[in-house]
Amino acid sequence: MELLENAVRPYAWGSRTAIAALLGRPVPAPHPEAELWLGAHPADPSRLVRPDGTELSLLDLVEADPAGQLGVACAQRWAGRLPFLLKVLAADEPLSLQAHPSAEQARQGFAAEEAAGIPLDAKNRNYRDPNHKPELVCALTEFHALAGFRDPHRTIELLRCLDAPELAGYAELLVAQPDSAGLRALFTTWITLPQLTLDALLPSLLDACVLHVKEHGPFEVECKTVLELGEAYPGDAGVLAALLLNRFVLQPGEAIYLPAGNLHAYLSGTAVEIMANSDNVLRGGLTPKHVDVPELLRVLDFSAGDVPVLRGERHREHVTTYHTPAEEFLLSTVAWPAGDSAPVELAEGRPQIVLCTDGAVHVSLAGQAQTRLGRGGSLWLPASDPVATLRPEDGESAQVFVATPGGTPFNT
Ligand SMILES: [Zn+2]
Repeated sequence: MELLENAVRPYAWGSRTAIAALLGRPVPAPHPEAELWLGAHPADPSRLVRPDGTELSLLDLVEADPAGQLGVACAQRWAGRLPFLLKVLAADEPLSLQAHPSAEQARQGFAAEEAAGIPLDAKNRNYRDPNHKPELVCALTEFHALAGFRDPHRTIELLRCLDAPELAGYAELLVAQPDSAGLRALFTTWITLPQLTLDALLPSLLDACVLHVKEHGPFEVECKTVLELGEAYPGDAGVLAALLLNRFVLQPGEAIYLPAGNLHAYLSGTAVEIMANSDNVLRGGLTPKHVDVPELLRVLDFSAGDVPVLRGERHREHVTTYHTPAEEFLLSTVAWPAGDSAPVELAEGRPQIVLCTDGAVHVSLAGQAQTRLGRGGSLWLPASDPVATLRPEDGESAQVFVATPGGTPFNT
């Protein structure tokens, strides 16, 4: 068991308060802080700080002893690498419109860019590793997101509600084909519109959205989002594309799972996010970063409908687990209300990252070593450690997130 120090990524859309407050640093931070990375991704691995002041990266630790750190089965299954990356994500402004590749697409895309000699850190590099990146985002505060194509029949209703004659011709594409083929046709048309056409179309869309919001129409929330995106990214085709996506407001503890090819854009809020250990993002707009529309179109999944909101399964007291099809990760929370200090045992024999998001917990290993984990604190539990027991401090309320490779995380 070792305490972790984690890298903060300063992307421009980040919050100046959320991550600093979680880590107990002065608020506001001098720069936006977007993501806290907990894991062993080569671009920014967590660090272990030893009592003598020396530091070691979690990546180096795992590489030096994969069987001991990950367990033999996990090390074999994932070729000696920690298969997941855990993040705290704090968005003050919308993130890019994006999707992530499937395993096969990532393998091919990475190989093609390697063969083309594009440096790994080049701005126009799409595939920074050969892995897919399914992800689960679980709200810590109210969290706003666009994810997955809305049922095209609902989108037709939305377009008909907007008083923008310039949109009528595009709506017809979907009326003629209210299915994934129609969505593909409309999205492809919009995302590839010449700038002059966009510059003529977007103002009338925004005017129509202003009117719809003023009249408290049935798509008020969707229209407000279009207006916010239009203001943040004037002239960006992603503003149009946002019209096609499901709009989510997640409450704390609610989550959505985004498989390969799901088009999404996080809008605002703080969340814990877990994903396969990859940084492969294909962007379609709403960003100053590299956008590659043809490659995005190649990986997108145009099937439409509701993306279910996951509230986790309570398979025993204190513990809620978010099951997904991703084999690389399993995310759980352990929560204690004030006055409840029942101990909770974690599983042994598997690697785990524990992140405290509320209160403080004491972590002990088979009754021996004990560590206090305050809010924002995190630790690494290698597979070779004995059973860890968590207990909240002084009868106060507490919450931790526990990330582990797919499988059962808790002793039952
Ligand atoms: Zn994403």
